[in-house]
Amino acid sequence: MLVTNIPGHDRVGEFMSDQLESVEDFRIRARAWLSENMPKLDPAKEYNTNRVADREWVEHRALQKKLFAGGFAGICFPKEYGGQGLSPAHQAAFTEESVSYEMPLRLNVPSLSICSGMLLDMGSEEQKQTYLRGAISGEMILCQFLSEPSGGSDLAGLLTRAQRDGDTYIINGQKCWSTFAYAADFATCLVRTDWDAPKHRGLSMIIVPVHDDATHLQRVRMVDGSEEFCEEFFTDLVVPAGNLVGTENDGWTVGQRQLFYERQAVGGGSPYVSGQPPTRGGSSATVEEVARAVGKDKDPATREIVGWQSALDTVNHQLIKRITVGMASGEYPAMASSMMRLAHAEIPQHKMDVMLDIAGDEAVTSVVGGDGYLRSVGVQFLMRQGASLGGGSSEMSRNMISERVLMMPREMAADRDVPFREVRRGR
Ligand SMILES: Cc1cc2nc3c(=O)[nH]c(=O)nc-3n(C[C@H](O)[C@H](O)[C@H](O)COP(=O)(O)OP(=O)(O)OC[C@H]3O[C@@H](n4cnc5c(N)ncnc54)[C@H](O)[C@@H]3O)c2cc1C
Repeated sequence: MLVTNIPGHDRVGEFMSDQLESVEDFRIRARAWLSENMPKLDPAKEYNTNRVADREWVEHRALQKKLFAGGFAGICFPKEYGGQGLSPAHQAAFTEESVSYEMPLRLNVPSLSICSGMLLDMGSEEQKQTYLRGAISGEMILCQFLSEPSGGSDLAGLLTRAQRDGDTYIINGQKCWSTFAYAADFATCLVRTDWDAPKHRGLSMIIVPVHDDATHLQRVRMVDGSEEFCEEFFTDLVVPAGNLVGTENDGWTVGQRQLFYERQAVGGGSPYVSGQPPTRGGSSATVEEVARAVGKDKDPATREIVGWQSALDTVNHQLIKRITVGMASGEYPAMASSMMRLAHAEIPQHKMDVMLDIAGDEAVTSVVGGDGYLRSVGVQFLMRQGASLGGGSSEMSRNMISERVLMMPREMAADRDVPFREVRRGR
C-alpha cells in the first residue's frame, strides 16, 4: 500500500509503508522520548497569545534543536536534508503524543511548512543542504518576503527589483506584512528581474538575508499591541547569484509552489507542521467556554449558536481531510488547497463573530487592560479580517476555485501579455 507524502506533489508514493517503521511502533518510541526530553506544558503559563515574547524565539529554536538531536524533527522531510523520511500518519501520531508538551510551534509557519516545503521542491541541492537542513535542525528560521505596499493580491505586479551584477544580484525595493521576519535569518524574496516581460514572466525568487546593513527592517505595531508583522526597505542589498531559486524570470512557478504550501499550511493541512497549540488560554477558547464564562450556557438561543459552530468546526475538519486525501490521490488538483484556505477563513470568522455576540460589549472594552476569555474574544474580533487575507484573500481563493478547480472562464486581465514596463500603475 502506498503511504502518500504531500497532496498534489511529485513525490507522491515515495514512501512505501513496508519500508517504514510502523506508525504504532513510532508512536511508542515518540511517547517515551517526549516524556524524557521535552518540557511539559506549564499550567501557570499563558500560551497562544498574539503577543510573541522575544524569549519565545530563543526557547523554540532550542526546542527544535532538541527534536533534531532526538530524531523527531522534520518528520515528513527526507532524511538527506535532516528530516525523518516518514509519512503524514507518523507526523499525526507525533502531534497527538506531543499535545501536553511545549513544542517549537513558532517555527511551523512559515519557516517549515511554507518556505522549507517550497525549497524541497524547487531549491538546488546546495540550497536544500543549507536552508532546508538549517530550518529543520533549528539553526535557521525562514520567512517570506512577498507582499508589497502596492498590493498583495496582485502579487505578480510587484515592484521590488533585482539587477544581475556578475555573481550577485542587487536588490532595491520594499516588502511588507512579513510575518515574524524580525526573528528570522533568511527570507524567500520574490523580485522583478525583467521589466520587458509580461508581469508573470519577469519574476525571480531569491533567498535573502533578513538582517543586513542594506536592509532597514521595522516592526509594525498592531492594535492589540502585537508586533508580528515587519516591513523591509532594501537599498542596494547584494546577494550571491547562487541564492536564486529555480531559474531567472521563472519566479512565478517557484512562487506558486510557495503559495500552494501557504494555502495548505493556513488551511490546516500541512504535513510539515509538528505539534498543535495548547487547547487552553489565549486564542484557542471555544464558543462553549465563552458561553460558560459569561453565564449564558443554559440560554437556548446561545446553545443553538454553540451547536451550529460545533457543526461548522466538524465540517472544516472533515473538509481538510477530504481535500488532503483527494489531492494526494490525484482526484483533486493542487489548487484545491484554495478550498481549505477559504473554509479556514470563513469558519473561524464566523466563530469570532458569534463569540463576540455571546460575550457582549465587555469583550471589546477589555481589549485594553482586560484579561482572560473576554480580552481574548475582543482581540480575536479585532484581528478577524486577517483570517481572510493572510495566505491570500478569500476573493482570490474563490477566483482560484472557479478558474483552476471548476475550470470556469478566467477573470479578465488587461495586463496579461503586456510588457510590465508598459503596464499602467496606480499612484
Ligand atoms: C496574518 C497575515 C500574515 C501575513 N503574512 C505575510 C508574510 O509572511 N509575507 C508576506 O509577504 N505577506 C504576508 N501577508 C500579506 C498577505 O499576503 C496579503 O495581505 C494578501 O495577499 C492580500 O494583499 P493586500 O493586503 O495587499 O490586499 P489587496 O491586494 O490590496 O486587496 C484588498 C482587498 O481587495 C480584494 N481584491 C483585490 N483584487 C481583487 C480581484 N481581482 N477580485 C476581487 N477582489 C480583489 C482582496 O481580496 C482584498 O479583500 C500576511 C497577511 C496576514 C493578514
